[in-house]
Amino acid sequence: PLDAAEKVANLFGAGLRAQVVRAVDDVNLTIAEGEVVGLVGESGCGKSTLGRVISGIMDPSEGRVLYRGADVARMGGKERRATDLAVQMIFQDPMASLNPRLRVIDIIGEAPVVHGLVEARDKEAYVAEIMGRVGLDASTRPRYPHQFSGGQRARIGIARALAVKPQVLVCDESTAALDVSIQAQVLNLFMKLRHELNLTYVFVSHDLGVVEHISDRVAVMYLGRIVELSPTDELFRAPNHPYTQALLDEVPRLVAKKRKFSSLKGEIPSPLDPPSGCHFHPRCPHAFARCKVDRPALKEIAPGRFSACHLNEEAPARPGRATADGA
Ligand code: SF4
Ligand code: MG
Repeated sequence: PLDAAEKVANLFGAGLRAQVVRAVDDVNLTIAEGEVVGLVGESGCGKSTLGRVISGIMDPSEGRVLYRGADVARMGGKERRATDLAVQMIFQDPMASLNPRLRVIDIIGEAPVVHGLVEARDKEAYVAEIMGRVGLDASTRPRYPHQFSGGQRARIGIARALAVKPQVLVCDESTAALDVSIQAQVLNLFMKLRHELNLTYVFVSHDLGVVEHISDRVAVMYLGRIVELSPTDELFRAPNHPYTQALLDEVPRLVAKKRKFSSLKGEIPSPLDPPSGCHFHPRCPHAFARCKVDRPALKEIAPGRFSACHLNEEAPARPGRATADGA
């Protein structure tokens, strides 16, 4: 088994030096080798922070990240570097993450040479092979990022990550800036690479359609906590948590005849001062007294399905609500 981000964070947000933001709180997530896990939620829910912690870009101030059972923070330099290479993050905006002064051959080829994965004399051929794998014309390798289209730049970012032979890719809304047809091509590329290279993915997105399309399991986050974690088909067919239900109502469903509108009322509260008890209680249509004071734990409600809602204990047969077996 691959590993995990356990109970994470306490982070200093940019520009919030005086205040401690608990961006991700009490998250426990184990990801299996070869799996695609989607992390979804509204902006500010902590999904990007969790993605950064999983990828090793950001260290948790509390809790642990395990890779193949080993605590990343306790690894020696060599093992930590190998793990950092094995878990690669692909950024949201390919333009902002590519150095405009470097040629594509160096953007893709520098790290594998520095880390001794390829000999310097083999760099040209190695880069050409990876460019072919991601659908880029290898003859363009002397060019600079601005000479490529948005979709091609996304492929350059993917090639750069692949060049260090990762096992896990953490993708943070990396296709969001692209138009829909290009986005679909990039998602198809991710899935092709998954099968060719046996990659594991963590896919951070606010786009439920994307997540439904590519994920095996989905974790729904709200104000720093995972509120529901389920196999994708079950989550979309029979969402358990009231927040998941509201999120799905917001999305124009591909199969639905008419568009449903949001059942989510009110603003997302500030992560600096989250509501007591269940963080979702001020917006939840089913909230009751206990929800204000008692924080619901993420509990297994059916094999492989987890939800953090008191209703699963107090009112399991609530009409109109999916039961644990999805009936
Ligand atoms: Fe709603 Fe209460 Fe469940 Fe939270 S615990 S989602 S407030 S019913
Ligand atoms: Mg984000």
